[in-house]
Amino acid sequence: MPLTNVQARDLDAVIHPYTPLHKIREIGPLVLDHGKGVYVYDTQGKEYIEGMSGLWCAGLGFGNEELVEAATEQLRRLPYYHLFGGKGMEPAIELAEKLKEIAPCEIDKVLYSSSGSEANDTQIKLIWYYNNAMGRPEKKKIISRVKAYHGVTVMTASLTGLPNNHRDFDLPVANVRHTDCPQYYRFSQPGESEEEFVQRLAGNLRTLIETEGPETIAAMIAEPIMGAGGVVIPPESYFPTIQPILDEHDILLIDDEVICGFGRTGNWFGATTMGMKPATVSVAKQMTAAYAPLSAVMLPKFMVEALEAQSAKIGVFGHGFTYGGHPLGCAIGVKTIEIYQRMDIVGRVRSLAPQFEKRMMALADHPLVGNVRCKGLVGGIELVADKATKRSFEAAQGVGAKVARLGEGHGLILRAIGDTLAVCPPMIISEAELDELFDRTIKALDDGEAVVSREGLR
Ligand code: PMP
Repeated sequence: MPLTNVQARDLDAVIHPYTPLHKIREIGPLVLDHGKGVYVYDTQGKEYIEGMSGLWCAGLGFGNEELVEAATEQLRRLPYYHLFGGKGMEPAIELAEKLKEIAPCEIDKVLYSSSGSEANDTQIKLIWYYNNAMGRPEKKKIISRVKAYHGVTVMTASLTGLPNNHRDFDLPVANVRHTDCPQYYRFSQPGESEEEFVQRLAGNLRTLIETEGPETIAAMIAEPIMGAGGVVIPPESYFPTIQPILDEHDILLIDDEVICGFGRTGNWFGATTMGMKPATVSVAKQMTAAYAPLSAVMLPKFMVEALEAQSAKIGVFGHGFTYGGHPLGCAIGVKTIEIYQRMDIVGRVRSLAPQFEKRMMALADHPLVGNVRCKGLVGGIELVADKATKRSFEAAQGVGAKVARLGEGHGLILRAIGDTLAVCPPMIISEAELDELFDRTIKALDDGEAVVSREGLR
């Protein structure tokens, strides 16, 4: 298809993240124009079900007038202010109060930033600062996991456990260690039960801690459900089994709720769903339903006290972003949480989850599909070349991306993470729309199977 004018302009001026830049001219950008409910429309007027809530964030879909009004009102009243030097503003206070109310653990105070990466980066800085305040400057290493996704700043890309985020970026930096990915389908050994798998991972974690020396390890960071690493849902006993090992060695658990927070897994936070007992929490994305960028770290009292003690020693708390706690994001965040509470977002996700799961699980019979997994309203469909042996396609064949593109032909936006198709629809989706999403997914998979057979990709 010839490029439209707007596509040509895009190609001449815009760099697309997480895109094969050498092939973008072949693929052509998909330029979106507007959205309504769970649908978005491209510049030609073609409709798509946004099956990924953008990037796991537009939990209330598109065109929510209440959010637009809250944003407009705030822009009129006070479009910008900051929190430096003891300044404050009502939306930042109100949102922090709301976050404290719904947090998955005891939270004392909230520190704002704009993106998930910034929140997680801040977590690491604060934990280093905290350990210095505690007089143990050697306790600095951070444990993350293979396939984790925590962001793209120098530190958070280091924590991210995906090769493309490290390779040729000269990462990871020092003081980061990656332990196993808790994905039973891919990483269990032949004949190993799920419980044996969990015990093996816990044993490996203990060995890592003891080899490195617990006095050198400050924290472990974890997503309750790994999202951008391919929607990895750990076995139920995973967090309850590793938590005592962390506690025993005084290693804080940082809960990265950037995707799982605000109802997505059928609880306010994924930590509750997966049995985590975190010390600190990072939130972003669905906190504002993606109507403005905003993120935050939620801190326990003992850390806040340590920061205050350290500040007394140094003279000031030397950290903060120009847009951390931007009033636009905070006002939208307050309204978003109010809407979630009014519509009982947790109850809604729980009531849709059985239908979501039923339709997801039915895909397991498809010849292209090796594994399906889901929780609440988030799931992954892993495509394989051989169902029996779980053999993957060659990465260079780009089968996942091909199927995602075929989905677009059928008016569906999913995201290919390698050969796993991620599904994460807006939480306002209706039962009929959810069925339509899966009907379109099946069409994309059928087309994908035809391409794989025709091109001999197996
Ligand atoms: N943590 C998790 C779990 C994420 O999924 C993401 C983004 N997908 C991030 C952190 C980074 O967030 P951002 O892209 O806003 O920097």
